[in-house]
Amino acid sequence: MKQVNRDCKIVQDLLPNYIEGLTDEVTNQYIEEHIATCSECTNVLKAMQGDISVEEFDQEKEINYLKGIRKRVKRTIAIVSLLVVIIAVGIVLYVSQKSKLQITNYTFLRAEFVSQEERTIDGNVYGTLIAVIDEKGVCKSTRIVYKGYNDEELNRIYELMKSDEYYCSNVQLVDDEIHYNINTWNTYKKNEVKNHWKTEFNIEQIEEI
Ligand SMILES: [Zn+2]
Repeated sequence: MKQVNRDCKIVQDLLPNYIEGLTDEVTNQYIEEHIATCSECTNVLKAMQGDISVEEFDQEKEINYLKGIRKRVKRTIAIVSLLVVIIAVGIVLYVSQKSKLQITNYTFLRAEFVSQEERTIDGNVYGTLIAVIDEKGVCKSTRIVYKGYNDEELNRIYELMKSDEYYCSNVQLVDDEIHYNINTWNTYKKNEVKNHWKTEFNIEQIEEI
């Protein structure tokens, strides 16, 4: 009985190393021979192996937990990316919509007039006025086109207008027409522009586009 207890003590001391595979073959044989005949040590071994599997179970739980975190991080990244894309698309749509609105908010005044003048082909000069009015009803620019001057007069006016940067800009000769911007009415209200056109060019009808 004493001998058995002593073997049990030794075997049970060795079991942790045995389970970890740290014992040599001779020791293993000794342990296995004892285990085969000793139910107590068999139970101790089973219990120790059970401990290990509990550890393994914990490890597995930890791995699953980490996997869970990784999954949540991935999901968070996906959601944030999606939000960034949605916000970016929203900004692009908003900006493009806004610039579209700005264009459609402009109105245009258009009028044609004829005036008798010398140095023209048929005694008349034919003019077209186009003013850009912004959403607040203020004139941003006015383009005028004259047709009907003879070549000499066309060139004379062209040089004259090009030399006067205060009154006009963007002077162009287009075939037998002269085009330029009149800056005089910039910042005028729409109705003021209309009144000036009516008195200065003897215009009766002004189109609003
Ligand atoms: Zn034993």
